[in-house]
Amino acid sequence: MEGLHDLKKGDLLQVKILDMGVDGAGIGKAAGVTLFVKDAVIGDEVLVKVMRMKKHYGYARLMEILTPSPHRTKPLCECYRQCGGCQLQALDYKDQLEFKEKKVLDNLKRIGGLSDAERVMEPMIGMEEPFFYRNKAQFPIGRDKEGKIVAGFYASRSHTIIPNRKCCLGAAVNEQILDIVVRFMEKYGISPYEETTGEGLVRHVLIRTGFFSKEIMVCLVINGTRLPFSEKLVEALCRIKGMVSITLNVNQKNTNVILGEELILLWGREYITDSIGDIRYQISPLSFYQVNPVQTQKLYRTALEYAGLTGQETVWDLYCGIGTISLFLAREAKKVYGVEVVEKAIENARHNASWNGIDNVEFFAGRAEEVLPEFYGKADDGSAQKDGDGADMRHPDVIVVDPPRKGCDERCLETIVRMQPGRVVYVSCDSATLARDLKYLCGNGYEVQRVQPVDMFPQTVGVETVVMLSHKKPDSVINVKVEFGEGEGKVPLDNIAKRAEAYKPKERVTYKMINGYIEAKYGFKVHTAYIAEVKRELGLPMYDASNAVEELKQPRKHPTAEKVEAIKDALKHFEIIK
Ligand code: SAH
Repeated sequence: MEGLHDLKKGDLLQVKILDMGVDGAGIGKAAGVTLFVKDAVIGDEVLVKVMRMKKHYGYARLMEILTPSPHRTKPLCECYRQCGGCQLQALDYKDQLEFKEKKVLDNLKRIGGLSDAERVMEPMIGMEEPFFYRNKAQFPIGRDKEGKIVAGFYASRSHTIIPNRKCCLGAAVNEQILDIVVRFMEKYGISPYEETTGEGLVRHVLIRTGFFSKEIMVCLVINGTRLPFSEKLVEALCRIKGMVSITLNVNQKNTNVILGEELILLWGREYITDSIGDIRYQISPLSFYQVNPVQTQKLYRTALEYAGLTGQETVWDLYCGIGTISLFLAREAKKVYGVEVVEKAIENARHNASWNGIDNVEFFAGRAEEVLPEFYGKADDGSAQKDGDGADMRHPDVIVVDPPRKGCDERCLETIVRMQPGRVVYVSCDSATLARDLKYLCGNGYEVQRVQPVDMFPQTVGVETVVMLSHKKPDSVINVKVEFGEGEGKVPLDNIAKRAEAYKPKERVTYKMINGYIEAKYGFKVHTAYIAEVKRELGLPMYDASNAVEELKQPRKHPTAEKVEAIKDALKHFEIIK
């Protein structure tokens, strides 16, 4: 399709960067066309080379900074431009916080329909030292063009490894560990895994460090079930101060998912311990644990404050991981129920509870959208389902959710609404799916009271947000006598049905619905990746694509113009775009 402009690939242009997009790219205008320039910062005057043009916009590469922006700062990392890990290192930290605040606000307004978002939102909680904060790193292992073994990070949206053992977000000890692993592989002829052929053994090195405990865990993800000469590796690694756990993780699938399910202990124990506040946790390589321990304390403190506990409450903590938030809540509530899909994490959670002497908490392994309805449905006669402690599981006072990026499943939200807790505390790592879910809750009797963004991921575009919602209780009752039926002064019944129809909450539009519409109207099917691509280009949230990040790492698929138009038509039909 011809563009509505004269720009073409290879053109060199001078551009002033006026804004930044959600993924951190600078946005400028040239010849009336919007250009996205990765690594350019708002306020920069830059020379760019056009790489790819679309009808109304294009992508350009930063060639030279002509006049640096006052918001620009010198990045600490030498390979920040090639590496896909950080997107904002060139932006002053104060401005990073502003950028993220705006991102959250925009999503709450645009997707969540919260027109008064400013009123309820607190200023972002930032970090004093926004570097070297991560307690976890996963380094892919591969070979460079000369065949040398390399460890590093994936380049942005690709699986090319950028060699870098010295990440300035992670712990200093990572470099020493990677040196040992690479030297061991070289010496004993252990091959790195190759994605294209599926051959080779070592895929990733996962390192976790306890921020407070100073304990260290190394886990080698391998495409096999044993590591030759592993005792030699153990010998070298266990000399590092703080080393407590060396394991293998078996992943023989040709997939983007880093970890497999099987864990083999090589040395020490299967977990490290760490603490948040005065609660101690055991963390296995397979379990989720917040990556920024300094900010996690502030995040949990906010979640706890928003829960407003007095000691009398029954609370559900959905997506509870190893029970981190659950245990915080349990000390100030009557009873807490945690739900988490990863079995190992639930094992950790149960152990963590007894280890801390906390006994008013119970954990269930399963999906939140299945476990919660199951408990709610258990006493369909309307009688309360009480457990041994007398807590009412069906009618909790507070429900806390902390879902992964794709947000809550609608069955989960639906059950929350039916359970009618007085408060819902939503902890989110993706403000777009957060906003979508808030819209659902607000359309079903809840009201957003407070919003607190927390910077858990400095130098990147990621932002964590805690939201407190309360159930809208009718604050006054007006009695109106209405007679239904035909005749003067009476309200016709079909009017009521019409109004009910108009007020019915809109159903969520799924890829399946979009596809169904297109098939019925145009007679062909479209791949979900195409729908995702069109949505991405329109800047729409990608929440219903699970594992969206992994998908982004795969080569993008490009639909034909005909399919693009059909998808846009469907998006219009479902009122997703105008
Ligand atoms: N609240 C925890 C974990 C949050 S991360 C903490 O702060 O540490 C989100 C968690 O949700 C992960 O542990 C993930 O395994 C889990 N999860 C993902 N999908 C789920 C689902 N459908 N039901 C329950 N848990 C799920």
